[in-house]
Amino acid sequence: MMNREGRATTPGNAARPDAFQTHSGHRALVQEEPLIFELGRPGKIGVDLPEPKGTQSRLGNTARRGFIGLPDLSEPEVVRHYVRLSQKNFSIDTGMFPLGSCTMKHNPRLNEKMARLPGFADIHPLQPQETVPGAFEVMDELARWLKVLTGMPAVAMSPKAGAHGELCGLMAIKAAIEARGEKRTRILVPESAHGTNPATAALIGFTVDSIPATPRGRVDLAAMKAKLGPDVAAVMVTNPNTCGLFENEVREIADAIHGVGGYFYCDGANYNAIVGRVRPGDLGIDAMHINLHKTFSTPHGGGGPGAGPVVFSDALAPFVPLPYVVSEAGGHRLVEHASEDPAAKPFGRMVAFHGQMGMFTRALTYMFSHGADGLRQVAEDAVLNANYILASLKDVYNAPFAASGPCMHEALFDDTAFEGVTTLDIAKALIDEGFHPMTVYFPLVVHGAMLVEPTETESKETLDVFIASMRGLAEDARAGKVERFKGAPFLAPRARLDETAAARKPVLRWEPPKRAEAAE
Ligand SMILES: *Cc1c(COP(=O)(O)O)cnc(C)c1O
Repeated sequence: MMNREGRATTPGNAARPDAFQTHSGHRALVQEEPLIFELGRPGKIGVDLPEPKGTQSRLGNTARRGFIGLPDLSEPEVVRHYVRLSQKNFSIDTGMFPLGSCTMKHNPRLNEKMARLPGFADIHPLQPQETVPGAFEVMDELARWLKVLTGMPAVAMSPKAGAHGELCGLMAIKAAIEARGEKRTRILVPESAHGTNPATAALIGFTVDSIPATPRGRVDLAAMKAKLGPDVAAVMVTNPNTCGLFENEVREIADAIHGVGGYFYCDGANYNAIVGRVRPGDLGIDAMHINLHKTFSTPHGGGGPGAGPVVFSDALAPFVPLPYVVSEAGGHRLVEHASEDPAAKPFGRMVAFHGQMGMFTRALTYMFSHGADGLRQVAEDAVLNANYILASLKDVYNAPFAASGPCMHEALFDDTAFEGVTTLDIAKALIDEGFHPMTVYFPLVVHGAMLVEPTETESKETLDVFIASMRGLAEDARAGKVERFKGAPFLAPRARLDETAAARKPVLRWEPPKRAEAAE
């Protein structure tokens, strides 16, 4: 970029080993992009509206006198600024996103097409119920698929993310315990759990008691049993777990918690690995959230809102929150008040309306387009792809649990094979290779963890390029080429950032250069 003094600078890339600097600061057709405020120049005009004739300001002495501080830009500058920024985004549509625990898979375009049908896209949650039977049918059909796939009798559709689903599940458990007239205060959570599990339990007033892992990366059943007692409300177990392993003592975990009158909450974020193969209902689970944005291909994060329906066992079904759709002889009906359903004891409601309608439509489209057999193959291919990566890399990266057999949908490595090159270095160097980094330093039970989840939507050709890049990096690290890592990424618009300073002292505001206040 040209800075205000007209000097060409390429911020953050000073450490580039080839030290190649362009005169413009741009890199081929990848343009350097300043802040929009830095681009603005006083007096430039994007849109020129005529002064309204014959109107008098009604603002009186409240009219602004000071400098407003908005950037002054022409229309092409505004367009280019935002298009250039958008081109700097890395997304699932640009390349592989091997983030473990996130299931970053392709979002089929058919889902988008269905969600944009005016009959779905243009409806409003406050429309009279009789005008939206199709929307109720989508919700009811998606609920049916979720119940059949999981083997669970009830589902709450409204939670809007996995973590929100955890909250919903624990609120139902709390309501069930209160309905029994009991007081239970403790929730057992394995050390390897996603941070949202203990956070959710703590948020609604439970004490979190952590269960250690075995050397095989599973819940230590004996340690869990030793912690059980009449004050335990629930155990929260992720299955497959965050080490990418199936908890093969899951039935024993269920029996143990039920034996003391507690409930089994399963974090179902990793359902992608077992969908169509294992029914959580058969494992003794009482409540489990499903991330539609992971297992059922709806977009994540900036791409769209999450959705985290929760399936429930018979024991918790009466406590499902409002509102919900029931199907009757005459069609579907929305139950919005506890009084409308004599069998129900809803604990309340999670959200104002029904949940993420657009995501329901996408997820159901995905289910219909795969069919039951296709969904089973999703799990098989996701597990196959992860094991291909594990088998292709475990001779050059330490793979802490590889000795105990194959993994599920994600492969776990660490940095103990290297001297002076850390997991962070590998992750940053992977950016230069054209891949989003894998999940790093999670799960916490593995020091220097690198968690790789390819998902079923990556082809063998893409995996082979990823594997070759990862092998190359491991060989450089083993050869002690520390310099090759320390400033990485070298080819990205910004080099290695000081992440501690960025987190602790973030610069969130652009301060205008000092100038006299314009008296307008
Ligand atoms: C993603 C994830 C969550 C949280 O889900 P959100 O939709 O991001 O709230 C919880 N647990 C595990 C294991 C996850 O992978």
